[in-house]
Amino acid sequence: MTTATAKRARFAPTPSGRMHLGNLFAALLCWLDARKQGAELLLRMEDLDRERCRPEYAALLADDLRWLGLSWDSGWKEGDRAYLQSQRQAYYEAALRKLEGMGLLYPCYCNRRERLAANAPHLSDGSVLYEGRCRALTQSQRLALEQEGRKPALRVRIPKETISFVDGNYGPYTEQLEKECGDIILRRSDGVFAYQLAVVVDDGLMGVTRVVRGHDLLSSTPRQIWLLSQLGFAPPHYCHTPLLIDSQGRRLSKRDRDLDMGNLRTVTTPERLLGILAHLAGILDRPDAISAPELVPLFSWEQVGRADRVVGDEVMRQLRA
Ligand SMILES: [Zn+2]
Repeated sequence: MTTATAKRARFAPTPSGRMHLGNLFAALLCWLDARKQGAELLLRMEDLDRERCRPEYAALLADDLRWLGLSWDSGWKEGDRAYLQSQRQAYYEAALRKLEGMGLLYPCYCNRRERLAANAPHLSDGSVLYEGRCRALTQSQRLALEQEGRKPALRVRIPKETISFVDGNYGPYTEQLEKECGDIILRRSDGVFAYQLAVVVDDGLMGVTRVVRGHDLLSSTPRQIWLLSQLGFAPPHYCHTPLLIDSQGRRLSKRDRDLDMGNLRTVTTPERLLGILAHLAGILDRPDAISAPELVPLFSWEQVGRADRVVGDEVMRQLRA
């Protein structure tokens, strides 16, 4: 039984390949925060991108978490599809119908070239602000565009509203939605639900009260808080983590094959890997081998802080030592 005050956290990876050091860093901080808080931790697979995601990656990902000792309490398990986003379309559809009933959705027929129009303001995350070209189309204009063979995406009318929240690691954060978000797509023209919708519906329906994730999603948080409130859900407490970057300042990714779990599990042990990650996180002074439970009492967000961590030659040497 879940009570209204029960703490529930989630780890929500994308099973599009083997986890790499950057994913492990985020997973460890999520796990430590949940264990320190006494929160139930659920595992959810964010596999909306059917071209990149595969069931066997989800199984490998779960196996890699177990190998590290990062246990979870509920959610994904082998053969159970309830915690795969790809199997939760009916919930996303129901949320769209609710927003539609509130008059918040409209079809957008713009193609890629129109969306990226040169005069549209570019946002801090590199995306382009949608200026509402299709907001006020008449029914006959819509019909004419559909007769041209255009399939619409569905956008949500974002109001002139300022959303503020206090991040558990980055502190107070404020965004003017109409200037920094704009009318976002909730369902693409090919029928695929947008991450922004799925994450909000899942966090809401799963009763998530704590979200720990990379700070690349910090700027998406105000729109998620707004969407949650439209759908009748209370926002969780958010803690964003620094990212692991390479010496060129690029976020670690799957291109660094020697930092993925397929390789890491052959060159090191769970305890040594956890020691290196905890040292990168600022939790340990030295990258000494340690188990996941031993890290729980040592963890705090003050140690982690906000600066991204460079994974340079020294970390590579520690991994191979
Ligand atoms: Zn449009």
